[in-house]
Amino acid sequence: MNCPWCEFNGTPRALHAHLSESHPEGVKFEDRGKRRVYVIECPVCGAGYDQTIKPRLNDPGFIEEFQDQIRLVAFDMLVNHLMAEHEESASESSDA
Ligand SMILES: [Zn+2]
Ligand SMILES: [Zn+2]
Repeated sequence: MNCPWCEFNGTPRALHAHLSESHPEGVKFEDRGKRRVYVIECPVCGAGYDQTIKPRLNDPGFIEEFQDQIRLVAFDMLVNHLMAEHEESASESSDA
C-alpha cells in the first residue's frame, strides 16, 4: 500500500505504523461545544471521519495522554478506508 502523504510503501500493518510515526498531524482533535472529537480525512478523496472522544476522556490532560492511542484507532480507520476505496491492485487489476 502507498502512503497517501508520501512515497512510503508497505503492508497495511507497516503503513499503519508509518502513519502514526510520520504523519501524526493527519489526525486532528477538535472542540465542538461540549464534545471533543477527533477527525481524520482521507487525503486521496477527502472523505472525512469524525468520532466523538468518550466523555471520560474530556479532561485535557487525559486527552494528551491518549492522543497516541486515539491516533492508532483513527489511522486504523484510514488504512481500512484506503484498502476499501483506493487499492485497485487488491481486488480488480485487469483491463479497464
Ligand atoms: Zn507517509
Ligand atoms: Zn479516500
